[in-house]
Amino acid sequence: MNNLEKKVRVRFAPSPTGYMHIGNFRTALYNFLFAKKHSGSFLIRIEDTDQSRFVEGATEKLLQSMEFMDLDWDEGPYINNQNTTDNRQHQEESSSYPGILEVGEHGPYIQSERTELYQKYALELIEKGKAYYCFCEPERLEQMREMQQKEKLPPKYDHYCLKNLSPQQINENLRNNCKHVVRLKVPEDETIEFVDAIRGKVSFSTNTIDDQVLLKSDGFPTYHLANVIDDHLMKITHVIRGEDWLPSTPKHILLYRAFGWQEPEFAHLPLLLNTNKSKLSKRQGDIAVEDYLSRGYLKEAIVNFVAMLGWNPGEGSVQEIFSMEELVEKFDLSHVHKAGAVFDLKKLDWINSQYIKKLNIDQLYEMTLPFFKKKESYVSWDMEHEHLNKEEKVQYLKKVLTVEKERLSKFEDVGDENPYFFLDIKYDKNLLVWKDLTHSQIKESLEKSKAALTGIDNNDWTKEIIEKELLAVAGENRGNLLWPLRVALTGAQKSPSPFECAWVLGKDESLNRIEKAHKML
Ligand code: GLU
Repeated sequence: MNNLEKKVRVRFAPSPTGYMHIGNFRTALYNFLFAKKHSGSFLIRIEDTDQSRFVEGATEKLLQSMEFMDLDWDEGPYINNQNTTDNRQHQEESSSYPGILEVGEHGPYIQSERTELYQKYALELIEKGKAYYCFCEPERLEQMREMQQKEKLPPKYDHYCLKNLSPQQINENLRNNCKHVVRLKVPEDETIEFVDAIRGKVSFSTNTIDDQVLLKSDGFPTYHLANVIDDHLMKITHVIRGEDWLPSTPKHILLYRAFGWQEPEFAHLPLLLNTNKSKLSKRQGDIAVEDYLSRGYLKEAIVNFVAMLGWNPGEGSVQEIFSMEELVEKFDLSHVHKAGAVFDLKKLDWINSQYIKKLNIDQLYEMTLPFFKKKESYVSWDMEHEHLNKEEKVQYLKKVLTVEKERLSKFEDVGDENPYFFLDIKYDKNLLVWKDLTHSQIKESLEKSKAALTGIDNNDWTKEIIEKELLAVAGENRGNLLWPLRVALTGAQKSPSPFECAWVLGKDESLNRIEKAHKML
């Protein structure tokens, strides 16, 4: 990219909706990584000019999510509550969002605070003959559209106001405050060509481009006008955004040319797809970063997973786990794919499980406790164990977590795999039967286990000693001892080993459960 000779300046320009769409988060992440990699600046700009879509609190929520996910930005709006802005230059209170500070030389970074600027530039385009006033009423436009539909023509403005209004008529209309918009004058029969950093050469015929509305009748700009003016004034060198904006890019290029400004470089990121290759949508599951956080995915795992949605570190690399630092070091637009990126939840689960494995048991306990508290099984266990003090309960959960840790893919699943650690167990006595052993042989086997476990001192109650003592009496066919014991402890067809289960349950409870099984037979 040629613009790399300049200091890199990139931006994340969301229209706040109240949540962080995974696709938007990827755009933010790639911009962040690109800026860091090239020692450039990463900006946030809030694109809130569509007043009909205003969502109370959405901007604040978005900034909080960005901060929580550790995507620091150098310029833009900040929530005015932390020290991070203390030593930054050029701070100003946002005029429309109480509690938000705008930091940086190129603000305001919130588009609804820049309306006059867009109006000024729209006028400049009109004066240059690159844009024009359109006074068409909605009814006329509606009729025009119906006719185009009937004749199977592409929906485009028919240039009525451009062709039919004299300067005098236009002035009179303006004097009479007639409702109007400003439209871009798109030249006919031209080809707009540009090189996209990901897609290569892209070209559009201007005949397919509508005379885009730039300024709406309420005086607010459309996305196109505001986006181009701001990218220029904020000295953006690279526009990195989702592929759904690709068809807008020729309009933007026409605007840059109309103003006589240099275009930034463009990079359009591949679409996110469901596993069935349809466009990622809410109907297929969660699409907000916040949803994944609240289900107990770690932010580091989400960043790692999202980074791999459409990018890999290059041929031959099999590395799948990346810290933020490694991503900054390895990220490169040339390894972003053109083809859609499949959002594979199984992959996210796997990546998350790798991060869970790295947590120590105290961290895991702190992070999973809120999830345990939402489980009925845990809540009833907690109530039924009033005789245990707080520390004993903490120790119990930590033991459960030690056993679950290796197989846990997200915190919301905590406790689910092993309900027998929290609930009374009920099972069919035939489940105790291993191969062709008789009931009395199983009773003998349980007695053997019981004797071995009884012999272990409470202070020696570790997984290793339990295993050693049981194996010492198991004999050649270990299953004869271990199967009935495991079922007696868990009542389950499948579970962790009887050593781990006995260790978690503790000596008394293990012996109780063995006794109960014995009585059943
Ligand atoms: N406001 C647009 C969005 O919501 C920005 C697109 C762009 O980056 O140009 O994604």
